[in-house]
Amino acid sequence: MARFIEVARDLAFMRCAMVNVAVLGNRSGWILVDAALPGYGAAIRVAAEERFGPGARPAAIVLTHGHFDHVGSLDDLLRDWSVPVFAHPLEMPYLTGRSPYPPPDPLVGGGAIALLSRVFPRGPFDFQPHVHELSADGTVPDAPEWRWIHTPGHAPGHIALFREVDRTLLPADAICTTKQESLSAVVTQRRELHGPPAYFTTDWDGARRSVQALAALTPELIVPSHGEPWGGQDVRDRLTALAENFDRVERPGFGRYAKQPAIADASGVVMLPPDPLPALLAGAGAMAAAAGVVWAVSKRKELTASR
Ligand SMILES: [Zn+2]
Ligand SMILES: [Zn+2]
Repeated sequence: MARFIEVARDLAFMRCAMVNVAVLGNRSGWILVDAALPGYGAAIRVAAEERFGPGARPAAIVLTHGHFDHVGSLDDLLRDWSVPVFAHPLEMPYLTGRSPYPPPDPLVGGGAIALLSRVFPRGPFDFQPHVHELSADGTVPDAPEWRWIHTPGHAPGHIALFREVDRTLLPADAICTTKQESLSAVVTQRRELHGPPAYFTTDWDGARRSVQALAALTPELIVPSHGEPWGGQDVRDRLTALAENFDRVERPGFGRYAKQPAIADASGVVMLPPDPLPALLAGAGAMAAAAGVVWAVSKRKELTASR
């Protein structure tokens, strides 16, 4: 049975297959951060009751962003809990039925999960009337020690959560401690520090600036959405290196969003770079046709020679 694992005072996380959810607070008041993949509602409720007592319910649910692996069990949880849900204003179009996310880019990241991403649901999801905008002052509802930080790039309204007093950082998808595109790395949770999952990242300049902003916080402990918590000087050094070398080590050299971002505003996605896949397939088709002609010509020569 999955359960919340405490990693710092008033902070615990639980792994739900390939993504984590977290709880901030204690029995006198707590919030849930994100809502995992579909099918985890009961597991989250049971684990929350184990940690906070029978009948426990959060004061609120805060979404770091609205990708399907972070909101999958939200409807299920809201049926029982009916609590307010908060997200960044720029994430609202995808959470209130107004816009789907930009299509993922399965060509980048080089792993089985990246290839699968083409069929991942991308909304729009609709969590009205539960969903509300986070306050612009950076406060996190019902979690007074925490503040939210806008970290776009992976998603337009993506946020990280930071607790200054012990420098604990929840970077959500802005920083992963496993190679999220690779199925084997995700299964074994092999520890590596990376930027966001590449297949869903649609603004690489934004993603770099977000990693740099989070590195500047010099966190003591990182509790990401993908991968295990990681703390101490070791991860700080790696984070500094990641921020300095981001474009070289993380940014894809090709793919739909490598050179141009998807552009979004408060209404949702407004501009997408062209999908390179049809051109690639057409190119592959032309190459196959050319190979066929070469083969036919050589075959003809063979036949002529053997006559
Ligand atoms: Zn995501
Ligand atoms: Zn994610």
